Amino acid sequence: MEEKFKQVAQWIINSKRIVVFGGAGLSTESGIPDFRSPGGVWDRYNPEDFYFQKFISSETSREKYWQMATEMYEPMKKAQPNLAHLAIAEMEKLGKLDCVITQNIDGLHLKAGNSEEKVIELHGTAMYVSCLSCQKRYDRDEIQERIKKGVKVPYCDDCGGPLKPATISFGQSMPERETQEAYDRSSLCDLFIVIGSSLVVQPAASMPLVAKRNGARLVIINRDPTPYDDMADLVIHGQAGPTMASILEYLKMGLMPHESF
Ligand SMILES: [Zn+2]
Repeated sequence: MEEKFKQVAQWIINSKRIVVFGGAGLSTESGIPDFRSPGGVWDRYNPEDFYFQKFISSETSREKYWQMATEMYEPMKKAQPNLAHLAIAEMEKLGKLDCVITQNIDGLHLKAGNSEEKVIELHGTAMYVSCLSCQKRYDRDEIQERIKKGVKVPYCDDCGGPLKPATISFGQSMPERETQEAYDRSSLCDLFIVIGSSLVVQPAASMPLVAKRNGARLVIINRDPTPYDDMADLVIHGQAGPTMASILEYLKMGLMPHESF
């Protein structure tokens, strides 16, 4: 395993444009459940109630949605970045990160210290709320305060439109700018590192393919096998946090002048 960590560190040192692609497995060590796992929130709510079209068309659906969203937000708000988030933030400080593309909505890369222009949130973020009519953005905590005070469905102060967490719901289209940027950066990078994603949700899952086709090296760090393992230059089946912490150690060693390993 140590040889693999060293190899990834060496590739990071030798690469000019590095894209990290993160999935749910990157945040589970921060105590954020993978919502698709058994025991997750979908065992208690019916996903069909949360399709975007229902949110738009029914006050009852909006009320249910906000109940569930409030339940999901509490642990997310308290969650702290783990070793993997911290290692990725450190990569940025070392000038070794083009961007991190994430499927997560927990805002933990920003909490860990990555700058906003380096983080592409493919599925939006739970840290903000936006008005579906005028797109005005609100801080999530401000809206949760209203819910705490008894508001069941919050509406926009400016235009009266329905407010919804700035996440992408079932049936809602992917954000155009973020998706395009994620594809562009994937195609331009020379090292693509997947962390904690099983690479089954589209369109995200096709990004490693785009990177690989354009000549990038592909590294996959995930607890379980993924459909792209065969194509990868290196696969580590392990936990995101400890793996990234070890790679970071070798990276720092390797970047020090007159040191090599
Ligand atoms: Zn509005």
